[in-house]
Amino acid sequence: MMSEEKNVRVRFAPSPTGPLHIGGVRTALYNYLFAKKHGGTFILRIEDTDQTRYVEGAEEYILNSLEWLGFTPEESVNQPGEYGPYRQSERKDIYKKHVEQLIASGHAYYAFDTPEDLVAMREREQAAGVHTPKYDHSVRMKMKNSLTLSEEEVASYLKIGENVTVRMKVPVGETISFHDTIREKVSFQSNELDDKVIMKAGGLPTYHLANVVDDRLMKISHVIRGEEWLSSTAHHVLLYRSFGWEEEMPIFAHLPLILKPSGKGKLSKRDGAKFGFPVFPLEWHDEKEDATFAGFKEAGFLPEALINFISLLGWNPGNDEEIFSLEDLCNLFSLDQINKSGAQFDYDKAQWFNQQYINKSSNNSIYSQVKSDFDESISQDQLEKIIELLKPRVTFLADFKTQSSYFFNKPTDIDEKGLKKKYKLENEEHFNALATLITNTSNKSEDLQDAIKGYITEHALKFGDMFSVLRIVIAGSMSGPDLFEMISLIGNQECHDRIIEGISTAQKITNNG
Ligand code: GLU
Repeated sequence: MMSEEKNVRVRFAPSPTGPLHIGGVRTALYNYLFAKKHGGTFILRIEDTDQTRYVEGAEEYILNSLEWLGFTPEESVNQPGEYGPYRQSERKDIYKKHVEQLIASGHAYYAFDTPEDLVAMREREQAAGVHTPKYDHSVRMKMKNSLTLSEEEVASYLKIGENVTVRMKVPVGETISFHDTIREKVSFQSNELDDKVIMKAGGLPTYHLANVVDDRLMKISHVIRGEEWLSSTAHHVLLYRSFGWEEEMPIFAHLPLILKPSGKGKLSKRDGAKFGFPVFPLEWHDEKEDATFAGFKEAGFLPEALINFISLLGWNPGNDEEIFSLEDLCNLFSLDQINKSGAQFDYDKAQWFNQQYINKSSNNSIYSQVKSDFDESISQDQLEKIIELLKPRVTFLADFKTQSSYFFNKPTDIDEKGLKKKYKLENEEHFNALATLITNTSNKSEDLQDAIKGYITEHALKFGDMFSVLRIVIAGSMSGPDLFEMISLIGNQECHDRIIEGISTAQKITNNG
């Protein structure tokens, strides 16, 4: 593939703290597309250093989601490349070495403050008028750390090993600027940054340290992630600088937020349940809350449709086109066409995409996805014919089942109101004659069409009314796929019987009304 970008290596780095939210899916997609566009490598790294937020099953969920979507990472926990391990909890020694390096170079320091010390600091600062107290340059010299304690005291605290953390020593009075492909120049004042913990008590690194070290060691060229990480990037830039890697920092691209359908505020995992649509790719059962969150897959979305929908949440191809296969997207995608402003989540649009993709899918591919919903006695040939007829009318895969019952059984619930409106008592004999005509005609839809239309024309009847009544008595409703294809699939004799029975009902309701 032609590309001006060399050696593209990008990573999707989710934390297994729960299911993948639609925002995470978009981050994964954009990373994947960017890698494909530039002939690069798409990497999956599991960022599981926060044991307190670890959720059983979340990693598996993430892997299953990517598999369903078809974004296969070239390097991951399941398929390690040369930069593994790809699970951060298995990289402790690497982080330890790097943290020690920062302490030795004076860019980080040990802190031994107890939780009580930290509370006391906050109270003290608040009393002194500081609105949101932080462990930063202004308080660090008043705390219990390797900057304030003697070497012997530090050694003794380290020996005891309780509440030992490592913090970044953020420089004073500097402006930290970096270039973001989407946001352009971004600057932060170092005095507003806290001395972030980079190694927690217990020896595990925090996200910031692990993320930077891994991006460096895994030779990540571009960091494409959600906007919520933009402010953390200031600390990351400082870390790159402290390690002496600033010249070769990855290129950053922070993606705009995905907003609620109203456009007000970020789309949250709760919004799905609130507005009645999924915000997760696959269904997720939350053990703690004993609640099940809907998934796009289970709601009947095709992965291609979801991908197309999500691709446009924050990116645009520069024209009005909307339908893009994953392959098209791989060719077209560019970070330059990512919007700065948030993207409103529009579930109607998601459904529209699904309709388009179902209509475009081959009968055979739909067959393989829906066959388990149907009785085994239904042949593949019959089911594929039904799929062909219903394809332009369904939104979800599950609709094939719910909208096809009349192909197998006499409809139990018929549109009586419609029947009353369209049925004329004097047409009884014509319907009986049509029922007989159907049994005397071949099963081909064209023959059925010729015979039925011929009869209606010959007797100068109204097409609209006659067709509507036939549809209601055969399939229950006035709308539906082609009438003659429908009769052909249901069977001539069965349609005959439904017409005879339906007409007797029509006579009764029309007489009484
Ligand atoms: N582990 C972070 C997350 O869960 C990754 C952020 C990043 O990509 O740097 O989103």
